[in-house]
Amino acid sequence: MSKPFRVPRNPDEIMEWINSIPMYKEDQPYDPSFKSMQEIEDIQNSKLPKQMERLEKFSPFYREKFKEWGLDPKSIKTTDDLEKIPLTTKADFMADRGESFKLEQDFNNIMEYILYDITYTTGTTTGMPSRFYNTTYDMFLLTWGFRIGCKIGYLEPDDIVMNLFPFHFVPHIGFYRTWHFAASAGMSMAFGLTGAPLPGFPHNIHRSMQQAIEDIEKKKVTALSGIGSYIRRLIMSAEEQGRDFSRISKVQALGEAVPKGMRDDMRRRLQNMGAGEIFISNAFGFTECQAAFQECTELGGCHTGLPEMFLEAVDEKTGKRKPDGEPGLLAITHLDRRGTCLLRYLVGDIVAIIHETCPYCGRNDARLITTAGSTYGTRTKELLNVKGTLINPITMCDAVVNTEGVLEYQFIVTKERKDDPYSMDLLKLKVGVEKDMDRKKLEATLTDKVQRAVELRPKIEFVEDLSEIYDPANLKATRIIDERPTE
Ligand SMILES: [Zn+2]
Repeated sequence: MSKPFRVPRNPDEIMEWINSIPMYKEDQPYDPSFKSMQEIEDIQNSKLPKQMERLEKFSPFYREKFKEWGLDPKSIKTTDDLEKIPLTTKADFMADRGESFKLEQDFNNIMEYILYDITYTTGTTTGMPSRFYNTTYDMFLLTWGFRIGCKIGYLEPDDIVMNLFPFHFVPHIGFYRTWHFAASAGMSMAFGLTGAPLPGFPHNIHRSMQQAIEDIEKKKVTALSGIGSYIRRLIMSAEEQGRDFSRISKVQALGEAVPKGMRDDMRRRLQNMGAGEIFISNAFGFTECQAAFQECTELGGCHTGLPEMFLEAVDEKTGKRKPDGEPGLLAITHLDRRGTCLLRYLVGDIVAIIHETCPYCGRNDARLITTAGSTYGTRTKELLNVKGTLINPITMCDAVVNTEGVLEYQFIVTKERKDDPYSMDLLKLKVGVEKDMDRKKLEATLTDKVQRAVELRPKIEFVEDLSEIYDPANLKATRIIDERPTE
């Protein structure tokens, strides 16, 4: 058996760890995150003009926008010039479900443009998710990015990863990119294959959390990857059963903020099951970057890794870049892509970014740092993050409001256990209904409609007194209440 994992504590120990793994050692001269800040900037500035040319030739959306904005794409030569370009909003992207942001094929470079995969964004205006396309070139670049990311988050080729992201009826990055992430460094992977059933599909093909717990023990899993609060619930359940989780040394707890208290709680429980040192990463990811930016130190900031993903924190009104460390809206620009390509696209989070040598690992790539408590990105108002899924409140309400028999309704986003701030999110739907309604049937209808609209199963509660959810004395009904603690 190999020696137990120990989290490297400073740049020297990190170099020692890298040099102990042949694959990472060989990569080291090419790893952009260790290059100087000037070299990283040079890489970005060498790629941007070519990307602008691609957008002008092959992007249906930006080709039109450049004309509308009176902007000559050739005038954008460096990343500093990006400030001249207006921001792209989620509404722009969702207007045709992302279709006009996919580049047309360049037949002179056809190998780079072969359609490789599609994942979908969560959060919609229409109830239909938007497509995000990857071509061969994109997948190859992402795989290189994942290798860099594995190295940042201390994942090793010998790790055995349990993929705890749901196998969902809409393909999301969680399940699929965990797969590629592990592949990029040659790790082994086990699958929880959990998730919600496809409405109407005759057989339940999913596996349970209990089966995942048993596999983690039996298959000697060393790393877990999934939504933070789901992983914690699994760990709690395994602890109650007295499972042997002694081999686990890394946890990728993603999809939502995982504050320090929650990490300490998971660590303590894993250690009760025999584990030693554990690195718990709350890497920050979203569909439009197709990855998760890794922490090198718990709560030490998220490294961007690949210079080809250019991040800015911007002022919503002026579009100007915020100074380092100041919170602004997160905008992503793809500097070298072929499938879905975005320019200064507002992801929907408020973040702060810094450009300085990381004191923990010595890398020089840009980092997202925490601004409020232990949260990297605070959601802007338009979308809610529930169980790691972004939902549009309007779509969710629309699903309920036009249901026969429903008189009043109210969604409550809360925690499964009120006394446990780190327990899983719970989406409750309180409804007041007409007398003599078949409640069982209505419950099934509402569950199905909400699930189709926002991909989450609500817990339905019938209320007898309508004023409990809507007091007519108030002018406006409150349709959504978020009861979750802010930290
Ligand atoms: Zn670092």
